[in-house]
Amino acid sequence: MSRVLIVGAGLTGSLCACLLRRELQSKVHIVVWDKSRGAGGRMSTSRSPDPSSHPADLGAQYISATPAYAQSHQSFYSELLAAGVLKPLDCIIEGLKQKDISYNYVTPLGMSSLVKHFLSESGADLFLERHVTGVYRRGASWEVKRKVGESETFDAVVLTMPVPQILQLEGDVGPLLSVQQKQQLDGVAYSSRFALALFFPPDAVFSFPWGARYVSESDCIRYIAVDPRKCRSDPAGRGPSMVVHTSVPFGVEHLEEDKEEVKPVILQELYKLLPDLPQPISIKCHKWRYSQVLTTVPDCPGHMTVLNQPPLVCGGDAFTHSNFDGCVESALSLLGALKSSL
Ligand SMILES: Cc1cc2nc3c(=O)[nH]c(=O)nc-3n(C[C@H](O)[C@H](O)[C@H](O)COP(=O)(O)OP(=O)(O)OC[C@H]3O[C@@H](n4cnc5c(N)ncnc54)[C@H](O)[C@@H]3O)c2cc1C
Repeated sequence: MSRVLIVGAGLTGSLCACLLRRELQSKVHIVVWDKSRGAGGRMSTSRSPDPSSHPADLGAQYISATPAYAQSHQSFYSELLAAGVLKPLDCIIEGLKQKDISYNYVTPLGMSSLVKHFLSESGADLFLERHVTGVYRRGASWEVKRKVGESETFDAVVLTMPVPQILQLEGDVGPLLSVQQKQQLDGVAYSSRFALALFFPPDAVFSFPWGARYVSESDCIRYIAVDPRKCRSDPAGRGPSMVVHTSVPFGVEHLEEDKEEVKPVILQELYKLLPDLPQPISIKCHKWRYSQVLTTVPDCPGHMTVLNQPPLVCGGDAFTHSNFDGCVESALSLLGALKSSL
């Protein structure tokens, strides 16, 4: 049995784990490490410190399928719809402009439920708060070092974190990359933005009719969404939550500032846009240094093989494109590479 480590419990890593289990079954022992406290990555759902408020999706908001992907990834969409993880989007979204989109879906249990669905299907051993710092070749296996705790040895390693975080790893990943691979990875670029989650008490009332809105009249705020309106989930007596995404230029301008210092700037702008907004119980601010991919790895099948034996492969939305279908493409491509080398 091969011991496979997947670094990153985002959508790419979780789906890769699930596909490996379905294809290779008992031939693999799959372990997933993530540095965060919860699974989801950029599809994370934040809980309110006070359980009386609805959770809030800090990153991805909808799953939007083009006609081509609705067809080629139909099995994934059917599985998620049947499991109740996805349901059709059915609320007012002001300013939404979409070309060539057949279907929009939301996640009634939060975006992270999508990632958790595949993790649970994978039967992988998931370890959170495991921050990988280095990957070293040791004969026919890989020694993986982490910030806290003992290093461990694996027969294969899959890296699914954003590319700059792959390039920061110590050990043999950098030296094993060819000049061309290094150039390709160096060229990957991400947008940056801040996200604010506001959690309200159960009696909070909003004066506007929309579930989400794209904002054009502010330099700071680009998008606002309210749950459970947007995802049509059961409020279960909880108060609503609101997510605010800043514009990319605002994100870039304030990127090196402490998020707690940026929080009041975004809040002030929000109350200018929505003066009647009730007082939240609590507010969280998140900095997405690596938000959506602006420049992907060129001429890429969906993954990059750093070494065939022992296998070390990289994947994620940077190797395809930055959305659900991009991650599915990358996970399928990683599966193909692992199947041929394990
Ligand atoms: C604000 C925002 C809005 C978006 N909106 C949409 C949308 O509406 N629809 C859509 O389809 N997509 C959207 N996206 C894009 C989508 O979220 C991403 O394409 C997708 O989540 C990427 O998944 P991934 O698994 O490739 O990477 P990630 O989700 O980034 O997963 C990588 C994981 O690796 C972990 N990690 C990083 N470094 C280490 C380390 N050293 N050791 C251990 N673990 C590590 C991270 O904690 C993370 O969990 C949005 C993204 C953002 C940020």
